Amino acid sequence: LENKLRQLYALQLIDANLDELLEMKGDLPQETIAAEQKVAQLNAQLATLDDLVKTTYAARDKADSDIITLKQKTEKYKEQQLHVRNNREYDALTKEIDYTVETVARLEKEMETLEGKAEIAKKDIETLRTELEAAMTLLDEKRAALAEVSKETEAEELKYQHEREKLIKRIDKDYLDTYERIRKAKKGKAVVPVKRGSCGGCFNRVPPQMLLELRQNSKIYTCERCGRIIVSDEIVETVGTVA
Ligand SMILES: [Zn+2]
Repeated sequence: LENKLRQLYALQLIDANLDELLEMKGDLPQETIAAEQKVAQLNAQLATLDDLVKTTYAARDKADSDIITLKQKTEKYKEQQLHVRNNREYDALTKEIDYTVETVARLEKEMETLEGKAEIAKKDIETLRTELEAAMTLLDEKRAALAEVSKETEAEELKYQHEREKLIKRIDKDYLDTYERIRKAKKGKAVVPVKRGSCGGCFNRVPPQMLLELRQNSKIYTCERCGRIIVSDEIVETVGTVA
């Protein structure tokens, strides 16, 4: 049984290493995706603002040319007023002139508004471009880190997986099932050493009688509180620290 305990503890060490490798990569893919999304989102915002500036300037230019046309009309009406045959014609022209002058005033105000709108959008674009630069730098960093970790962890991962496969062939199915069940329930830690008379998983005190029995390595002991398999210092020392 001593050997079985040793095997289970060795398996625990390998799995802890595999978990760690997985965790190392675990955050980076998500962070890379988040960085990609940020860049895409900023690019979309920039495209929208660029469009806004374009349409705003187009509207401003249209107002500008309308003003020119309206001013020409005003001059034409004024000229026509000099040659009217009666008051009715004169009044009709005055009405036209009033209308064109009012419209010019309205369009001039509109041009100012449009100009202001475009200026604000251009400032927003500047801010977004700075943000985009930072986001792209971050994305490059995340991509590089992910590539490096993947390259780094690949060999280690294979090594541990190979070790694991070899090891589990030698472990009885019952023990393996128990191990997997506890591991799943206890966030990856199924086998823990005794630490200063306490369970290495939940730090609950191990009763003195059990501590004595544990040293004999003749039975599988589980923590009364967390249910993890507890192994003696001797097992830990003989298995060594694979980690
Ligand atoms: Zn415990």
